[in-house]
Amino acid sequence: MVLPEPPLKGACLCGAVQVNVTASPLLTFACHCRDCQKLCASAYSLTTVFPNDSFSCTGELIKGGVRSSGRAHYFCKSCLNFVFSRIAGADQRINLRTSVLSEAASLEPFVELMTNEKLPWARVPAVHSFARYPESLEELQALMDEYSER
Ligand SMILES: [Zn+2]
Ligand SMILES: [Zn+2]
Repeated sequence: MVLPEPPLKGACLCGAVQVNVTASPLLTFACHCRDCQKLCASAYSLTTVFPNDSFSCTGELIKGGVRSSGRAHYFCKSCLNFVFSRIAGADQRINLRTSVLSEAASLEPFVELMTNEKLPWARVPAVHSFARYPESLEELQALMDEYSER
């Protein structure tokens, strides 16, 4: 697997929101949780994690999802495409929806999360599977280290 070289660019479905990332991806994952299934109207969500300070975007966004305190989900105001999420306590990273990026084809999920809520027929070619999430920040860091070495 060859990771795409930054900068990475992308856009929402209608093109009103444009994203730009100047760093290499830290991690790619699929999340099988029921929330992601509903948010993405699909079997799972696809996320590419970047350093927050490498990310910029233009265009009008609105917040969606259940407006929980821990997670903020941002959508294009015009086409309502799901663009990215910010997780409280992980402000140094941004969770960009992989499908927004032009290089989505090279950003195959390295990890799958929340397989305990997985639709039984869903298949993801991930190297690491978790019934829920990595147990600790150290475990997450180890996954990011392994991903960046590939
Ligand atoms: Zn749009
Ligand atoms: Zn999820």
